[in-house]
Amino acid sequence: MKDTNGAVKPRVLVVEDDEAILALLTAVLSVEYDIISASTGAAAVTAALDERLDLVLLDVGLPDASGLDVCRRMKTQPTLVSIPIIFLTSNTSPDDEVNGFDAGGVDYITKPINPAVLRARVRNHLELKQSRDALERIARMDALTGIANRRAFDELLTREWRRLARVGQSLGVIMIDVDHFKQFNDTYGHGPGDVCLQRVAHAAAAALQRPADLLARYGGEEFVALLPDTALPGAVAVAEGIRAAVQDLRIPHAGSKAAEHVTVSLGAACVIPTAEVEVARLVEAADKQLYAAKTEGRNRVKGITIAL
Ligand code: GH3
Ligand code: MG
Ligand code: MG
Ligand code: MG
Repeated sequence: MKDTNGAVKPRVLVVEDDEAILALLTAVLSVEYDIISASTGAAAVTAALDERLDLVLLDVGLPDASGLDVCRRMKTQPTLVSIPIIFLTSNTSPDDEVNGFDAGGVDYITKPINPAVLRARVRNHLELKQSRDALERIARMDALTGIANRRAFDELLTREWRRLARVGQSLGVIMIDVDHFKQFNDTYGHGPGDVCLQRVAHAAAAALQRPADLLARYGGEEFVALLPDTALPGAVAVAEGIRAAVQDLRIPHAGSKAAEHVTVSLGAACVIPTAEVEVARLVEAADKQLYAAKTEGRNRVKGITIAL
């Protein structure tokens, strides 16, 4: 749902079994926020897992569970762990508050509800969450190209390695390196070199085919693509798509010995991961294929399936 300026409203899940209090909370908050509600702990957890959420208001006394338990359950879910949870309670002893913070709550609002306090606390915690989210995004983004950085790649690589080891499916990696890029800088200057890297990054990102695929800047003029659930024929096809997309940019490169335009060389490697073996093996194998693509003339794809 959008507000009058067309922006998407933050979504707040209100968990409250008292209908009169729920009506009050909804009336106070629905101008600024998109409100969804639940009246039991079980319904709250289901709603939280199903919906995009920005904040939870959670009654401590629910018919089927304690709000503290519901909070703990939500905090065990990776997709929910960073969503702020504010408790609604009529118990205000310091012990109760400490229990709430221990369970993972960020704040308390005491009943009877004061609308101004409610609005201020909700707004405050949403702003804090937005700042945290922005910092998280920046920490995983490459400043020059706007795509993922090496840190984001390494994190996802480790996660996907473990997941695919469990299900016994293939993981693909493509190392991508701009051909004769030192010469590009020497010919056209470092500024145009930067613009070239931005255009290569966007063309390569657009050549990826699945939402789960990730393109990252690995460093300098090197990029890397991570392709979960992908065996060698698929990875080579994606690599060939990236190669063609970069060539089709037709960025002049007078100093290149590989072509008249900017081109990339690519090395693909695929593996069915196992828990015992280090993830680095896959990247090393892709790097070797990239090196082979370079020595065989550049502007080409080489690939291998490794067995562990
Ligand atoms: P090859 O075909 O073997 O890959 O040759 P190359 O010249 O691309 O390889 P080399 O590793 O010798 O040079 C990479 C160059 O990439 C060196 C550096 O000037 C340039 N480079 C790395 N990062 C950046 C960057 O952020 N901006 C610009 N403009 N250039 C960069
Ligand atoms: Mg209650
Ligand atoms: Mg290089
Ligand atoms: Mg290079």
